[in-house]
Amino acid sequence: MEILLSNGLIVDGTGGPPTAGSILVRDRKIAAVIPAGAESPSLPAIDCRGFIVAPGFIDVHSHSDYEVIAGLPNKVLQGVTTEIVGNCSYSLFPMGDRANLSQLGSIYADTPDLAMTTAGDYFSALESVRPLLNVAALTGHSALRAYAMGMDRRPPSAAEHDQMERLLDRSLNDGSIGFSTGLNLMPCSFAEFPELVALCRVLKRHRAYYTTHMRDYKFRVVEAVREAIRLAEESGSPVQLSHVQVVGKKCWQHLDTILELVDAAAARGVDIGMDAYPYLAGTCSMVQLLPEWCQSGGLAGLLERLESPPLRDRIARETEEYMSNTWADIVVSRVGRFSAEALQGKSVEEIAQARGAVACETAVDLLREHAGVVDIISFNSREENLRKVLTHPLTSVCTDGHVGSGLNHPRTFGTYPTFLGRYVRDLGWMPLEEAIVKTSAQPARRFQLQGRGTIAAGNWADLVVFDAAAITTSSDYAKPDAPPEGIRLVMVNGEIVVQEGNLTGARPGVALRHTPSGAR
Ligand SMILES: [Zn+2]
Repeated sequence: MEILLSNGLIVDGTGGPPTAGSILVRDRKIAAVIPAGAESPSLPAIDCRGFIVAPGFIDVHSHSDYEVIAGLPNKVLQGVTTEIVGNCSYSLFPMGDRANLSQLGSIYADTPDLAMTTAGDYFSALESVRPLLNVAALTGHSALRAYAMGMDRRPPSAAEHDQMERLLDRSLNDGSIGFSTGLNLMPCSFAEFPELVALCRVLKRHRAYYTTHMRDYKFRVVEAVREAIRLAEESGSPVQLSHVQVVGKKCWQHLDTILELVDAAAARGVDIGMDAYPYLAGTCSMVQLLPEWCQSGGLAGLLERLESPPLRDRIARETEEYMSNTWADIVVSRVGRFSAEALQGKSVEEIAQARGAVACETAVDLLREHAGVVDIISFNSREENLRKVLTHPLTSVCTDGHVGSGLNHPRTFGTYPTFLGRYVRDLGWMPLEEAIVKTSAQPARRFQLQGRGTIAAGNWADLVVFDAAAITTSSDYAKPDAPPEGIRLVMVNGEIVVQEGNLTGARPGVALRHTPSGAR
């Protein structure tokens, strides 16, 4: 099949200025980039006059592990053509005891039992449904650890460690692109440095990647960045710092220090990168706010401790002491056990006031009342910090998005229109050609996605056509799932998946299997 995307303004991902021209797509690939004025073949054409033609967006940090199997359109509608799933220590493989997994977070809670052991099983499931877009997959440390040793807060035995290494090695052989941690998420948080270095050394043999949701994004964020860099240096694996930000007003000043650490590491040859989503709030489980010791044994252990009044008081007090923002900044987005829509969208402060209670105690009570399943949207950052992170040359743009039950974060539906509309066009934080490096070329380069991320003859025809003047979204914290506006066309592997905001029915996505020389 041949098709011409004619007369667009091409932003090719190299960082160079936009150029007028047409793109010839043949057999799933870009056959030629034809400059304006040169003769074009007479073929069926899509007129792109007045619109930007860019390489499809690559979401380097996604939690759509199951959504890509279920075929949800929220990413491809934004112009995403490739997602890297399996982040923050959570992957759908190895899938062990459901009782353990379902407490890890909504990516498991909302997912049916798929009985997967390695990345090979995941890719088979993905290919059997023919995904909308391309998917690469990290192997999550929490999944490995829960599989090998449950929710215990202790170092692994030699046999348990061996099992984690073997499973990681098998997944990497099957084409997993690397290994992810979420070091303040249980049970990954129970891991100490030697366990992590040993697992990262497995990556080196496969020339695979380490991505890390770090140990802390608050008072100890500087230490956490040091730990991530040291891990890369001692294991020899590349490192990607996930969703870089500093949480809470009390800690905002640490951002400059961590960016200096990243620059210094890069200068001495550490293969380091960062990603960030263009929002000031994050989302996570309320459990993440609690001290790590009280999570030993998983949710069952936590709930047992919450039944003891002295322990409950201590947990509430230590949680309060470690708050870097306020309870008015923490909004309940999902509660697990009962239908509790009355709580959804309310801050912990508001809920506490209505109950005539103290906020930190209310937070702990909510967890107790809802079997430990309370998700929150936390207003964390400020625009000055967001600008410093997004404009940093080592930062790629990501969604960090997941479609769960309850109130979702708008990043899941509106990351790319928000980044390109609000921050690039309206606030002028960077030129469009630099923005497209961050959405497409840099993620592809970083994770060695062969033949993707730039517009060049011979590359896969992953493309997005959008109206730079109109790209936007009305998606917000109150109504997150509003669709993007201004995206005219999305093409994956040469097939049109989205036209004028609607799915065409094409499902041309593939599993991108990592090999030591790149993913293809
Ligand atoms: Zn994370």
